[in-house]
Amino acid sequence: MHHFFYHDGHMFCEEVLVSSIAESVGTPFYLYSHATLKHHFITFNKAVSDVPHLICFSAKSNSNLAILKLFASLGSGLDIVSGGELYRGLKVGIPPHKIVYSGVGKREDEIEFALKSSILMFNIESFQELEAVNRCAKRLKTRAQIALRVNPDIDPRTHPYISTGLKKNKFGICMNEAKEAYQAARRLSHIKIIGVDCHIGSQVLDVEPFMDAFKRLKRLIEDLQSTGIEIRYLDLGGGLGITYDHELPPHPNEYGKAILKTVGDIPVTLIFEPGRVIVGNAGILVTRVLYVKIGEKKNFIIVDAGMNDLIRPALYDAYHAINPVKKDKDATFIADVVGPICESSDFLAKDRRLPRVEPGDLLAVMSAGAYSFTMASNYNSRPRVPEVMVKKDQFYVIRKREDYEDLIAGESIPEFL
Ligand SMILES: *Cc1c(COP(=O)(O)O)cnc(C)c1O
Repeated sequence: MHHFFYHDGHMFCEEVLVSSIAESVGTPFYLYSHATLKHHFITFNKAVSDVPHLICFSAKSNSNLAILKLFASLGSGLDIVSGGELYRGLKVGIPPHKIVYSGVGKREDEIEFALKSSILMFNIESFQELEAVNRCAKRLKTRAQIALRVNPDIDPRTHPYISTGLKKNKFGICMNEAKEAYQAARRLSHIKIIGVDCHIGSQVLDVEPFMDAFKRLKRLIEDLQSTGIEIRYLDLGGGLGITYDHELPPHPNEYGKAILKTVGDIPVTLIFEPGRVIVGNAGILVTRVLYVKIGEKKNFIIVDAGMNDLIRPALYDAYHAINPVKKDKDATFIADVVGPICESSDFLAKDRRLPRVEPGDLLAVMSAGAYSFTMASNYNSRPRVPEVMVKKDQFYVIRKREDYEDLIAGESIPEFL
């Protein structure tokens, strides 16, 4: 459910006309609905409320401070993958004891920052990382709380670029090395084992892969307990999919039931790291049509948003629905929606039946709340677009449009030039 809808042919976000925001902030811009963000978080939280749990929202899916602050106010923790995300989380007051740190390539300065901040745990992805965390903790005269990210070798049946829990993926420690890794961790003086962690992939559309993975983790936890290793946290990662087109992902309640069935009876606190399912359908990208090119073979709608603003179609061949902001045309045609960037992969949609738009019309690229602004770049020296949040009948710019000065900030020309 989301709060983008039409009234008399005009698209609204909650109680605000989308076209009026475009008049005020210009295009392109990202637009988020406060009510949708809140509703998605609360729905997920309720769905897993039968078990002791902590939600650590996945910062990489959308890390705008206003959005992190909203989730913090709803009790969320944070799943981070960099020092930068830790900085953002602390900035908005996420309690450090609700922060978990994932990722295969943590640098020692980032590890030290996290140790000094007293985060809940490091999700460790390799033997060498385990040693690095131990080394940093020793230097800081503390003990690092850790979980090992175990790779359960489950096929999440999603896009290969967002599948992470297979033996061939770079993530985690494989199941048959896990026990050995836990024994190695146990021998390290400045490491304290507190958890087991996994994350099988993203945009997962069935509960079965989750259930298979969680059952394997349960067996591992039982094995570990029998050797005297006490596990207090089981981190089940994120990955629940959303509807971009006609997909039918499991409702969070169904996911919650799968959790109960598989790991509901282990005496641990479960950690969830949802990203996309919370923010994906709470945001859109609004763009203006610049030109329409009618060709012999193909038609092109050239818009003012490009792959630097939204890279998912170029990167994953991802589908985003595209809707007119004003439904004022009956005629349709089939066209590619493309951006201004000098790359053939700069498209937002291919061969799509759309209203016969004209220059100046506004289009909404739907489901652009997750992995959208966070992946934006300045390619082609394009300033990054603003982010706007609507709450009821008000809108708030939560990140201003970059200007040309922002583009060159930090660059310098050596004197010899
Ligand atoms: C990206 C990521 C998530 C969030 O995944 P979603 O599919 O957005 O729910 C959670 N945990 C880890 C370790 C991740 O890398």
